Amino acid sequence: MNLVIFGPPGAGKGTQAKRLVQDRGLVQLSTGDMLRAEIAASSAIGQQVEAIIKAGDLVSDEIVCAMIAGNIDANPDASGFIFDGFPRTVEQAEALDKLLNDKSMKLDAVIRLVVDDEALLKRITVRFKEQGRKDDNPESFQVRLGTYNKQTAPLLPYYADKGLLKEVDGMCAIDEVALSVAHVLDGG
Ligand code: AMP
Repeated sequence: MNLVIFGPPGAGKGTQAKRLVQDRGLVQLSTGDMLRAEIAASSAIGQQVEAIIKAGDLVSDEIVCAMIAGNIDANPDASGFIFDGFPRTVEQAEALDKLLNDKSMKLDAVIRLVVDDEALLKRITVRFKEQGRKDDNPESFQVRLGTYNKQTAPLLPYYADKGLLKEVDGMCAIDEVALSVAHVLDGG
């Protein structure tokens, strides 16, 4: 089973992706985690993307698509993947379709976590205090939210048209959201 976990910053994508790794043995591919690892390693890519991420803008499609392709190839025995924070543009979604198609794989569902802006801001403020992620500061967060609305939200009709979009109320407690995700995946 291959899934996209979808939603604005702070919606709980990473948290729910980790639950799906635990519960279903899928492999989580988080482009945000991959990019942060590149920055921590001070690699050429890390140096190229650090300021972009800090500002809350999107890294180029080429960079993230190459990372995803490499990580799919690095996990030939995976029973499935959860794409977390990817795709974020229609171009990335088209690249993912092609990538999967070339490997005779397909997406089974896109799970959208629905959370209102006020709750997102509260969650990101807590995460900023707890984890100190530079792009969680209030200014970057507003940019990230704007980027999501402008460049990523257009993916909702893209996936709805393909019949893949499943919406889950992401406002409840983590366990309840996980139950709702399980419910939609198991055909509820
Ligand atoms: P995330 O951890 O998913 O919130 O990602 C953190 C930041 O990494 C984003 O705000 C972007 O700057 C960058 N990023 C992560 N995934 C992507 C992607 N698929 N496309 C472009 N930029 C990305």
